[in-house]
Amino acid sequence: VFKDYVTGVVEESDMEVVTTDTVQLKVPEGSTAVLLRNLYLSCDPHMRAQMTKNDRRGAMHNFLPGSVISGFGVGKVLDSGHPDFKTGEYVWGVTGWEEYSLIRAPETLFKIKHTDVPLSYYTGILGMPGLTAFVGFHEICSPKKGEYVFVSAASGAVGQLVGQFAKLMGCYVVGSAGSDEKVNILKNKFGFDEAFNYKKEPDLNAALERFFPEGIDIYYENVGGSMLDAVLLNMREHSRIAVCGMVSQYNLERSEGVHNLIFLVTKRIEMKGFNVIDHFHRHSQFVETIIPHIKDRKIAYMEDKAQGLDSAPAALVGLFAGRNVGKQLVVVADE
Ligand code: NDP
Repeated sequence: VFKDYVTGVVEESDMEVVTTDTVQLKVPEGSTAVLLRNLYLSCDPHMRAQMTKNDRRGAMHNFLPGSVISGFGVGKVLDSGHPDFKTGEYVWGVTGWEEYSLIRAPETLFKIKHTDVPLSYYTGILGMPGLTAFVGFHEICSPKKGEYVFVSAASGAVGQLVGQFAKLMGCYVVGSAGSDEKVNILKNKFGFDEAFNYKKEPDLNAALERFFPEGIDIYYENVGGSMLDAVLLNMREHSRIAVCGMVSQYNLERSEGVHNLIFLVTKRIEMKGFNVIDHFHRHSQFVETIIPHIKDRKIAYMEDKAQGLDSAPAALVGLFAGRNVGKQLVVVADE
């Protein structure tokens, strides 16, 4: 349960685990609701914006103090009054951070067709973050073979996939991450050409000059702040920046200023933001494209699974300290 609006850094104590009486495990007579047994819950950086009162930076509705937190997840249909969902089917989409959820408006639930892959993947590679990486890279970045690509927050849910999509396109790819362990994973598991620990670099501009002596063609922006400033200095003429998110800013009351935007003009850089919500209608097509890559082991994927609802607040807060190694999710129940 979300306790109250947050200012500054979100903490575990901003949420609490509450036990209530057993709910009736049936949808109300005559309703079109869907009753879910939640299996996996997704921890996503945008949830921090939903905790700020009247945050104009967030793209989703605010959480209400005292109400159950909502977010993306995977569940099994226990009962349904909706013609599109049947008992026993698996779905992904927006659900509650609770064991059972009654979804009264199932427009944001999507049926899972392929169940021969781990269902937890629908919180990540086959769900919202996967589609984000795919659309953001292939469409917003307009990549070409051989181009120089930089990805920040590269070992996370979105970043690990962007880097691999770029490698599959034949690009040179460098990622930044916040620990040596993550740097090692980027190079040896996800196949990035190079990676660096931004926390150990006293001068981000110098680090980028080292890895991109000829400049950057594509920057996949996940963090914002000082990284964006350093990147702007290193972009090539007619390069592209896909603004996916700015996780370094989400716990700040006011976003930091960016100093080097003038390079958008002088280097003719195209910088474009996007929201995956606008692309959900393409999810089925996306899954059909990605599943063969997973089965043929052309794409590697890493999850960080917290066990049980009690661990959910710590798992969510951990995103902002970089404690997650790979896609952070919470296991609520066995499949
Ligand atoms: P991640 O799995 O990458 O988790 C967040 C990571 O961000 C942490 O692991 C940490 O990694 C890094 N981080 C946290 N705080 C900072 C900081 N102050 N400075 C630099 N890095 C930091 O999250 P996702 O892959 O789910 O999301 C990545 C980005 O994509 C976010 O900005 C998110 O908001 C955005 N997003 C946008 C969508 C859209 O539609 N536009 C949809 C989904 C996500 P490290 O150890 O490397 O610091």
